[in-house]
Amino acid sequence: MNAKITDFQAKMELTLPAPRIRTPQREGLAKRFSPSDSNLDLTRLAVVGPALARAVKSRKFQFLVILPSQILFWLVIFTGIFGVIDPTKNFATAITWYIWFALMFPLTLAIGRAWCVTCPFGGFGEWIQRKTLWGRKQKTLGLGWKMPKPLAEYGLLIGVFIFLGLTWAEEFFNIAGPGNPILTSYMVLGIVGFAAVSFLLFERRTFCRYLCPLSSLIGVCGTTSVIAGFRPKDRGKCLNCQTKDCMRGGKEGYGCPWYTYPATADTNTECGLCSECYKACPYDNISLYAQKPLTSVVAPRKKPIIAWIAVILLGLVLFQQWNALPSYATVDNWLNSAMHFPNYPNPIDYIGTIAFVAVIFAGLAFLVSRAISFRTKIARSFNAWFAPMMYAFIPLVGADFLARVMPKFINHAAAAVATIPSAFGHPVGFGDFQILNLSWLLRLQYILVGLGTVGTIYAISKIAKKDLDQLTQHKTLARIIPTLIAVVVGGGMIALYFFMSGAE
Ligand code: SF4
Ligand code: SF4
Ligand code: SF4
Repeated sequence: MNAKITDFQAKMELTLPAPRIRTPQREGLAKRFSPSDSNLDLTRLAVVGPALARAVKSRKFQFLVILPSQILFWLVIFTGIFGVIDPTKNFATAITWYIWFALMFPLTLAIGRAWCVTCPFGGFGEWIQRKTLWGRKQKTLGLGWKMPKPLAEYGLLIGVFIFLGLTWAEEFFNIAGPGNPILTSYMVLGIVGFAAVSFLLFERRTFCRYLCPLSSLIGVCGTTSVIAGFRPKDRGKCLNCQTKDCMRGGKEGYGCPWYTYPATADTNTECGLCSECYKACPYDNISLYAQKPLTSVVAPRKKPIIAWIAVILLGLVLFQQWNALPSYATVDNWLNSAMHFPNYPNPIDYIGTIAFVAVIFAGLAFLVSRAISFRTKIARSFNAWFAPMMYAFIPLVGADFLARVMPKFINHAAAAVATIPSAFGHPVGFGDFQILNLSWLLRLQYILVGLGTVGTIYAISKIAKKDLDQLTQHKTLARIIPTLIAVVVGGGMIALYFFMSGAE
């Protein structure tokens, strides 16, 4: 009898709704939820909407999107090791550095984490962890650790430091030069291996959320995009939802692999567009939304960690501009000979430039917070000014990265196509066709940085109204000071491109 009762209880536990996680928090609902909500449900668009809805509902969707890039990346690894040594004729180097890395930026700025949908690094790790290519399994492979809380609090900041390390190594070994193709293979293999091990050690997509070197770059620059991500249709329903299947996993879908709770999401930064919540929600309360460009820059609560990532990325891209000038070579050579360091880039000038930019921006935010804010503790807080100001600079950072990778794409992308036969053992001559000549390349770089500057000025005006007006009585100054900084920085970037004269 007792055994029967236990059996019955076990069955009931499987079918009963999960216990409530927390009581609904209705207070501050409008402030927390509404600013970034959009009405443009992409699954309701005429013609493409129903097909899109069917696609993202299907469990095979992500597998089919990842499969082509997975094949391509293993081909890159293979041809980098076994293909022709000449990097200009090798499929691995040409596809990775002339096409993939360049195209990732417009994709990110326009669509956010579009690359993450098809990414072979995360995809490969997830296939291993889930022990299936597309199915919904209850048990996963690996230790299922959580990221230690003190580290998890730094979120994407850990990834940006890994990205800085990888970028330095790429410059030091001249991998993207492009250098010896085998180095490109080792780098890609290293990321795939790092991802696979992380997926076996940690639960869900801890790797994507905290460790991936690309995640902070894509997540932060992608806030300019028109894709809001997967969001609830009715957030009120989520408040009263007993099961929270979107977070905890349901019959048809896994709990959010990125630890995002769609009901409170106000930015696309931490949505990998994997569509698991869309499949998991049993109330059909999730959909894929579009938004106005820069909504995820302007509308969300401003997190200091994202602001620090933005300023670090700004420092990095400014370093990558400066390192193409003779003045940089003079400083780097002098440091290398003084420190007996083998070659470019000296870690001191690399980290020093990034730190210098971060200190300048942090210092400006501090001065503004002291000079024009109300004399209250909240208004005089450094983060109250620094975080909104750095969010506003994200469009300029993204545009500058895009402008910086343009020369390689413009000069070599068309010819890179000629390397495709080499992947199949038939090397062909490397053409010298350029998509644009030098003067048009420069104009394109000026235009991109100009657009980024305009985007930042627009973001400043919106963010000032939303986040800064309440901190100061000098509302006009709160707009003018960051706008002037944006004009100076944007103008400085354009001047650097002028002096770089199309340098790759
Ligand atoms: S966060 Fe990194 S590993 Fe994860 S899907 Fe995006 S690019 Fe790939
Ligand atoms: S999205 Fe669906 S599963 Fe998630 S909290 Fe809202 S109603 Fe519940
Ligand atoms: S489960 Fe939903 S909210 Fe989480 S990453 Fe995937 S699509 Fe985004």
